[in-house]
Parts: sequence; C-alpha cells; structure tokens
Amino acid sequence: MTAAFAERLLGWFDRHGRHDLPWQHPRSPYRVWVSEIMLQQTQVATVIPYFERFMERFPTLDELAAAQADAVLSSWTGLGYYARARNLHLAARRMVAEDLPETVEGWAALPGVGPSTAAAIVAQAFDRRAVILDGNVKRVLSRHGAVDTPVEAAATQRRLWALADERTPDDRAADYTQAIMDLGATVCRRGQPLCAHCPVASDCLARVQGRVAELPVKRRRKARPTRRRLLLWLEDEAGQLFLEKRPPSGIWGGLASLPECASTDGIDERLAGLALERDDDWREIGRFRHAFSHFELDASLIAARVVPRGLAESRGEWHGLDALASSHPPVGLPGPVARVIRERAGALSAIQDTARRDD
Ligand code: SF4
Repeated sequence: MTAAFAERLLGWFDRHGRHDLPWQHPRSPYRVWVSEIMLQQTQVATVIPYFERFMERFPTLDELAAAQADAVLSSWTGLGYYARARNLHLAARRMVAEDLPETVEGWAALPGVGPSTAAAIVAQAFDRRAVILDGNVKRVLSRHGAVDTPVEAAATQRRLWALADERTPDDRAADYTQAIMDLGATVCRRGQPLCAHCPVASDCLARVQGRVAELPVKRRRKARPTRRRLLLWLEDEAGQLFLEKRPPSGIWGGLASLPECASTDGIDERLAGLALERDDDWREIGRFRHAFSHFELDASLIAARVVPRGLAESRGEWHGLDALASSHPPVGLPGPVARVIRERAGALSAIQDTARRDD
C-alpha cells in the first residue's frame, strides 16, 4: 500500500503537480519557512504576491531579523492571522542568534511553527523524510482511509498521523510533501473533489463506499456571535489620519488601526482618552463585516475632523492617506482597515483629479 500510494501520487505530481511556485526557485530553508508560515490557513494563489513582495523587502534571514516589527507587519497587511508575522519576526531573531535548525524538533521549537509545518519545512528545504499532516492532507487521508470519527478528536488525529506516516516514502521527500498538499488543494478538494482525476482513487475507501461527501467528519460549530463596533475615522486639518497601535497580542495585535468604540455613548470619553477633541459633526462613511475565527465583526465607520485637546500629546500616530494606501504602508494595518483606506484614498484622488480637470 505505502509504495503504491506514494508511487502513484509522485507519478501524478510529475505530470500535474505545482513545480513553479516562487519558493521552489530557488529553494532555501529561509524561503521555504516563510512560504510555509504564509500558507497556514491561506491558499497558494493568495500567498504568491505576498511572498514575492516579502522577499523583495526581506531577501535574507538577517534582513528580516534586523527589520522593525512595523515593517514586517506592514508586509503582512491583508494576509490576516497577524500572530504569524509577529512569530516569524521573533523566530528570525532567534535563528540569527543560534543556528538554523535542520530537524523537525528544531523547527517545531520556534514560535509559530507546529509539527506539520516543521515537517513540511524539513522535507522541502532539506529533502529529508518528514511526515506532514496539514488541513489538505487530513482531508485526503480521512477520505482515502474512510476515517469517520470527528477529525478534531485526539484519537482521530493519532490515527491520521499514523496513516500519514505509513504512506510517506523514504525518497523524494520534498516532492512527496508537495504532491500530497497539491492533491488535497486541487483534486481532493473540500467541495466537489475530482475523483475521476485522482491517482489514488482505485483504493480510496470513501470513493468505493460512496461516502466522499460525508468525509472528513467535523464537529458542528456553534454559530459565531456578532460584535458591533464603531471605528473612528479621525482626520486633522491637513487630512492626516489618526491611528492607534493595538495591544501586542489578541485581535490585530501590534497593528495600527482606527480607534474602536463599543457604542456611541463612549465616543467622547474615547476621544478624551486619546487627547483629541471633535471639530465638526460625525458622519457615517461606511460599514464592513469581517469574520474572525470566534466572532463576526460588524463595523460602522464614522468620521469627524479632530484637533488636539489642550496641550496634551495625542496618544497615537498621524499618517497621510497616500502613504497608508501605498503597497508598503509605514505601519502594519488590519486587512479590512487597509481596504477602507485604499478606497477612501482612491476616492479622494478621483475627486482631486476631477477638480484639477475643472480648473
Ligand atoms: S478518490 Fe476522490 S475522495 Fe478519494 S482521495 Fe481521490 S479525490 Fe479524494
């Protein structure tokens, strides 16, 4: 079974797998590590442009380790799960002080690197046998082995690790790792898997038993609660936008964002806390919804011009909209906030263009 599974998968990979991903050319431990962190919870097509921009900005481990945290977070703007960027930066600093790990245990000891990510790095960066079990692989193995207990359960995880281990060949570690991830992403997809094109279909138990649609079994999730928030778009006389740095951990940790308020009742107190005073009326300028893993954010954006309150220094930072809307903003921004800023900066320059044409 092992040899046959891996052989068929590798034969398929040679013909149909992904051989031109940017982190494969050149393939170095640093590039593979960055790509694997970006690929956690994120699809390849989304990651590619972020990876390329990141490598332009931080082409080596030393440059990443020497960078300011804001610069790293800024390169992550829009990619989400920002703890990944903070951990990447911490791990880079640790790696320049010590040696770059070459074992699964060594990589797994770094912040933000779990056992499957560590194995994927070792297999791809050093072409050494290492067993991976990411979301795609869990789906393939649950179906192929007809594993019908909840995938989150500890006993199921142990079984899937054992199945993954049995199927992982001794040779072509890098190719096999990419192959099984590619199979999950492109053929054994979550919805409408392409079993007719699958190299391991002949002994796939889910297919033989007609149970593909019901596997893997997931525990039913509770509905996500909605959190309503006001986001304050505060501009000074010069049209600069006020941002405050969020606490280092938690949602959007360490990023610069619009000040947030639970309800209109608390706005004046919030402004006072920022040492700012409102200079004109509030106006609603937009809304967005954003899904986090445990809740949905329902945000309303309200805007006003503000001035410093007395002589106190405001507790935040002011930035021009153009700089914030650029491809390398000076600070890391949450994805939905970056989108709003780009939209408003675009709308503003369209208004200015029209005014210029009318002159
Ligand atoms: S036959 Fe279908 S369900 Fe089975 S592993 Fe292949 S794509 Fe997945």
